[in-house]
Amino acid sequence: VSNVENEVIHVACPCCRNKRLFDLMPGAIGIIQIKCPICRGVVAVSLHNYGKEGKTKIHTEQIGA
Ligand SMILES: [Zn+2]
Repeated sequence: VSNVENEVIHVACPCCRNKRLFDLMPGAIGIIQIKCPICRGVVAVSLHNYGKEGKTKIHTEQIGA
């Protein structure tokens, strides 16, 4: 299978230098809560699709410690 849309997205932590908080499959939507293993911050990641190509827009913010 050859499909560029299958590339995973690396989501970085907004609180520390962790550039790979988790990997995301393109097309995923919704809100995910994840605890960063490095800074221990709880991060909310909200995902939205936009555009004809179905690109994923990512917003990350710390919601707790
Ligand atoms: Zn972090």
